[in-house]
Amino acid sequence: MFGAGSVRDLPAELDTLGVRRIMLITTPGRTRTVAALRAVLGERLSGVYAQAKPHIPESDVLQALAQGKPDAYVSLGGGSATGLGKALARETGLPLAAIPTTYAGSEMTAIWGISDGKEKRTGRDPRAAPRLVVYDAELTYDLPATVSAASGMNAIAHCVEALYAADASPVSSLLAEDGIVRLTSSLPVIMRSRADPIARGEALVGAHLAGRALDMTSMGLHHKLCHVLGGSFGLPHAETHAALLPYVVAYNAPAAPDAAARIATALGTGSASAGLQAFGRRLGTLTLAQLGLPHDAIPRVAKLAIKGGYPNPRPVTEPSIRALLEDALAAKAL
Ligand code: NAD
Repeated sequence: MFGAGSVRDLPAELDTLGVRRIMLITTPGRTRTVAALRAVLGERLSGVYAQAKPHIPESDVLQALAQGKPDAYVSLGGGSATGLGKALARETGLPLAAIPTTYAGSEMTAIWGISDGKEKRTGRDPRAAPRLVVYDAELTYDLPATVSAASGMNAIAHCVEALYAADASPVSSLLAEDGIVRLTSSLPVIMRSRADPIARGEALVGAHLAGRALDMTSMGLHHKLCHVLGGSFGLPHAETHAALLPYVVAYNAPAAPDAAARIATALGTGSASAGLQAFGRRLGTLTLAQLGLPHDAIPRVAKLAIKGGYPNPRPVTEPSIRALLEDALAAKAL
C-alpha cells in the first residue's frame, strides 16, 4: 500500500487476512508513531514490543515470543523493527505486515538475520517475507535528516550492487535504476524539509524498488564489507553503507563498465563513483574516519572481507581491499 495516510486502510487489509489480534514490533522512542497506529488499530492491538535493536539479538525474539501469540505481527520502523518482525514471522509461521519508516528496504526481501552475541546467522526464507507492506510518508516525517541521508544511501547501495550483480536481470536493473533516480531526486529535498509529503513518498518508493532489486539479486563486495564493519567492528549499518559506497564503486567500475554507466546516468553525472561521492557530500553523510574505524583495523577487515565466497564483478584480494579501505579512511577525492 502506497501513499500518505495509507496506514488508515490497514484495518480493512487485516480483515481480508482474517487477522484480529496484532502484536506491534518497533524500536524504542517511537511514541508518536505508535500512538498514531494505536488510534488506527484500536482493540486489534493486543501487545507492543518496543525494544527491537540492530542485528536482531536472539533474546529479543525470545522475549517477544513470551509476550503471547497474536494472529499477526505488525512492524513499525526501520530495518531493526522489520528484521525482528521477520524473525518472529519465520519462527511462528504467522503473517507479518511491515510499515517501514526508513529506506533500508528489508520489508521487500525474504532475507532474515538473528545474532547470538557472537555471530549473526542470516538466510532466505519465504516465511520471513512480509505479506503486506504499508508505505505511508506521514509516518516518516520524524525521521531525522541525518538518518534519512544515511538510510537513503543504504537503499542506493542495494540498487548499485543489483546493477552489477552476476544474476542481474532486465527487470532487476530497471528497478535499480529507477530506485537511484527517485532517491537522488527526493533526498536533497528531505534535507531541507523533513515533512515534505511528495519527497518522503518518492524516497519510500525508491526504497521499495531498491528492496525489490536486493531481493532479486546477489550482493557483492560492498554489502560484504558493510557486514564485516557492522558485525565485527560495531560500525552503524546505514552510515557505513554511505561512507563506503563511492569507493567500492570506484573499485568495481572497471570490471562492470555497463553497470557503472547506468549508475552514472541515473545519478545524472559522468562518473558513478565521483557522482556518488558528490551526492553523499551534498547530503552530509559521514566518512569512515568520522564513524570511528581505526587505521590499524584495516588488515583485519581485509582478511575477513575476502572470506565466504560471494560474487563480485572484480576479483577481491586482501591487498586490493586494504587499498580500497585506505582511500575510504582518508576520504580520498574520486
Ligand atoms: P534502524 O531500524 O536501526 O533505524 C535507525 C534509527 O532510526 C533507529 O534509532 C530508529 O528508532 C529510528 N527511526 C526509525 N523510524 C523513525 C521515524 N519515523 N522517526 C524517527 N526515528 C526513526 O536502522 P535501518 O538502517 O533502518 O536498518 C538497519 C538494519 O536493517 C540492519 O540491522 C540491517 O542489517 C537490516 N537490513 C536488513 C535487510 C534485509 O533484507 N534483511 C535489508 C536492509 C537492512
